[in-house]
Amino acid sequence: MNISRGEILERIRKVGGHVTEQRVAVMEYLASVKSHPTAKEIYDALQSRGIKISRASVFNVLNFLTKHGLAREIKTADESHYDAYVDFHPHFICRVCGKVYDLDVSYAGFEYGDLPHKVEQIDLVVTGVCQECLRDQGSTSRTLSKN
Ligand SMILES: [Zn+2]
Ligand SMILES: [Zn+2]
Repeated sequence: MNISRGEILERIRKVGGHVTEQRVAVMEYLASVKSHPTAKEIYDALQSRGIKISRASVFNVLNFLTKHGLAREIKTADESHYDAYVDFHPHFICRVCGKVYDLDVSYAGFEYGDLPHKVEQIDLVVTGVCQECLRDQGSTSRTLSKN
């Protein structure tokens, strides 16, 4: 998913935020990848692009973005991952490598029944072993069974 720079500025303004270089840089990076990076990965990526931003600023910007619904936070066992794709979509988390994938699932028929609460956000996380890790495990077990 790619969001233009103009669209990013617009989204930040819409939630009443100041448009700062750092907010735009983090948001732009986040919107350009599908890997659901951690704060550290975002920091490293921005550094390697020559963008001057401190680790603390990356955290501050991520807090701002998630608080205002411009990014989503996906918590795994030991880390938080971030996603600029904020429309409702579930995630698949691999318990072996820790990678986070978007899941394309239809929600027709997803009903709450009589719910006394106001739903604002749904986080659906599916865990398991991803395709890549399954492939690795497969080759490992084949090697082992030969011995
Ligand atoms: Zn995996
Ligand atoms: Zn996602």
